[in-house]
Amino acid sequence: MKFHILTLFPEMFGGVLHDSMLGRAEKNNIIEFDVINIRDFATNKHNRVDDYPYGGGRGMVMQAEPIYLAYESICQRLDTKPYVIYMSPKGRVFNQAKAVELSSMDNLVILCGHYEGVDQRIIDEIVDEEISIGDYVLTGGEIPAMAVIDCVSRMIEGVLSNEDSFTDESHYSGLLEYPQYTRPPVFHGVEVPPVLLSGNHAMISKWRMEKSLAETAAKRPDMLEKYNQKPHF
Ligand code: SAM
Repeated sequence: MKFHILTLFPEMFGGVLHDSMLGRAEKNNIIEFDVINIRDFATNKHNRVDDYPYGGGRGMVMQAEPIYLAYESICQRLDTKPYVIYMSPKGRVFNQAKAVELSSMDNLVILCGHYEGVDQRIIDEIVDEEISIGDYVLTGGEIPAMAVIDCVSRMIEGVLSNEDSFTDESHYSGLLEYPQYTRPPVFHGVEVPPVLLSGNHAMISKWRMEKSLAETAAKRPDMLEKYNQKPHF
């Protein structure tokens, strides 16, 4: 899968995309990153890509033309129109199900806004979906884009190593994950639950399911309600 990122701040992505799990997946040719500086597509001699909002008001708005030209440069390299998301506080709130859906795409274009956002006409013309990472406002779409890229990448086969499964992690099944413990068996006088040291896999699975349900009931009763409405076999 290839992520095409349209941004005014390409340097922000450096450390995040090429390190750790994403860096390994990139080296293994499972995912690719194409970070495009919208400013390279400015059509004026001062490289300006933003202007005052029509109708007045504070701040600047990113202009449609350079974004369109940057997007067109991606399309020229592809056979089909890529799916385009715009990171926006007005979008549907991102979740695990959306990450699974996006992970099946060959190419995903992510438009990052800045300042007061982008001219509405570019949203209307090229954007398939607006996605928010939560009900709060950040300075730019770069951090939201990184969150989406990280989460979507983990859903792509081969990105996580065999030992790291996402299917029993929080949110995938509709529940929060059970508590995790590692060595030592006693820390500050607190013991690891004995069942985890028993070697009895059936008992461990039962304990984990119970804890998962209890954790979800305590922290996210809204999730538990939805989970209980679905059939489980
Ligand atoms: N004036 C806009 C509004 O009130 O909806 C907010 C613009 S915000 C300061 C600048 C950019 O940050 C947005 O264009 C968007 O790309 C990004 N952004 C801010 N908050 C976001 C969020 N919660 N989720 C996704 N993107 C966000």
